[in-house]
Amino acid sequence: MSKKFKHFETKLIHSGEPDPRIDGAVSMPIYQSAMFEYAGETSYHELKYIRLNNTPNHIALHQKLAALEDAEAALVTASGMAAISTSLLTLLSSGDHLLAQDTLYGGTHGLITEDFVSYGISYDFIDGDQPETWKAKLKPTTKAIYVESMTNPLLQVGDLKAIVRFAKAHNLISMIDNTFPSPYNFRAVDFGFDISLHSCTKYLNGHSDIVGGAVIGSQELIEQITHKLNHLGGSMDPHTCFLLHRGVKTLAVRMKHQNESAVKIAKFLEQHSKITIVNYPGLENNSGHQRARELFDGFSGMLSFELAGGLEEAERFMKNTTLPIIAPSLGGVETLLTRPAITSHAGMTPEDRQRLGIKDNLIRMSVGIESTEDIIADFEQALK
Ligand code: PLP
Repeated sequence: MSKKFKHFETKLIHSGEPDPRIDGAVSMPIYQSAMFEYAGETSYHELKYIRLNNTPNHIALHQKLAALEDAEAALVTASGMAAISTSLLTLLSSGDHLLAQDTLYGGTHGLITEDFVSYGISYDFIDGDQPETWKAKLKPTTKAIYVESMTNPLLQVGDLKAIVRFAKAHNLISMIDNTFPSPYNFRAVDFGFDISLHSCTKYLNGHSDIVGGAVIGSQELIEQITHKLNHLGGSMDPHTCFLLHRGVKTLAVRMKHQNESAVKIAKFLEQHSKITIVNYPGLENNSGHQRARELFDGFSGMLSFELAGGLEEAERFMKNTTLPIIAPSLGGVETLLTRPAITSHAGMTPEDRQRLGIKDNLIRMSVGIESTEDIIADFEQALK
């Protein structure tokens, strides 16, 4: 049983750590062993084997991640998409129906719209901001409702309170991709969601050097999802567990800086004459500001914006910057810029992108932990 700690920063460092320490090691050692000596285990899922997600590296990480959202249990996976696909395929079977938010991460959107049909799973999309429209989409076969805490790349915040209430009222499993705020800003399971999903590739690890995922929730649901993952095989390697374990310890200091820096950068962009739109719930005039203030402890380091002049100007601006790296993904210590239309949302049809407001000239920014002043100075010269 992992020790309990009150504050988030302390949980990051001490929850789930081996007690007593392994040979006194201050940092979690890597158990790079595919299998472990048989010790009388009685079920397949208990055999000690990396694919069964139960080496000491997995166990320590599971306990730490569960503590971050005040949940009973957690499971790490080979990628964020492994966490998402394995959870959905555990909770939904042929004949079941899913309600999903209409502005999902491109990979999740692709899984639902392209692959679900072959599993006999149906779906309907809902507007996360229009609770009064959800009931009409409900079917006797609806099993779960799936949303993101902040949408990618427009950073909209749906009515998450209403989602939890609706799921409880209609006996649905509520699932949320909590990657963007990270548990530092929003503890989805503690808030009332049944399942919180993360791409650990992003903020949880924070160093742009692994791909990984996590599922956080009740003991019962995590056990079911673990059994499915054991069959599907999307487990995390112990060395990756070690890197994630090391990275997550600094989540609070990184995220605090990123929250603060993003607010300053969004304010700078908002007042600049060459910028037409800034999507960031930390801005007071953003339509999601009040809701985000109420739900989250910070607004995260993600924002997106549009330049006057369209695609050519957006491309020129990105080329003129010298500090950010032009790359997809997010949540690391380096500031990144990307155009979602050709990266994260390239799998969507242009019509779907247009309907959702993801224009070709939209630039998405992941604020790193560099000096805010240096980033703003670089943007100033690039906009000139
Ligand atoms: N969820 C969100 C919000 C994402 O942005 C991503 C990746 O960009 C994923 C899930 C998928 O994560 P991974 O790339 O680790 O599979």
